[in-house]
Amino acid sequence: MPHPKEDPDHFRDLLHERIEKLEASLAVANAGDDTVAPDNAIGRLSRMEAIQAQSMNAATRLKQEKRLKRARAALDRLDEGTYGNCTTCGDPIPPGRLEIMPETPLCVECAR
Ligand SMILES: [Zn+2]
Repeated sequence: MPHPKEDPDHFRDLLHERIEKLEASLAVANAGDDTVAPDNAIGRLSRMEAIQAQSMNAATRLKQEKRLKRARAALDRLDEGTYGNCTTCGDPIPPGRLEIMPETPLCVECAR
């Protein structure tokens, strides 16, 4: 299991990947706001994607925006060398947790 202090690039990759996915998904969600005639192509989005975007509710979007912010903040911490430590208590966050949730700023205890 890669450790954030020994292999920060591994987590940098994970975070970049996550940011890209979240940005793409939010772009689709935002494009879905303009309810254009369904058969017209909305940019490069397919009709299916536009319909999916419309069904994505505001709460989901907010959650994704929050995760995106967290992921960007995590990248900043990676640059500062504080990544992998809980932002509340300062304890190391287990690498297994970071592997699943690389954007998390909190250890298991503080996330409760
Ligand atoms: Zn903590």
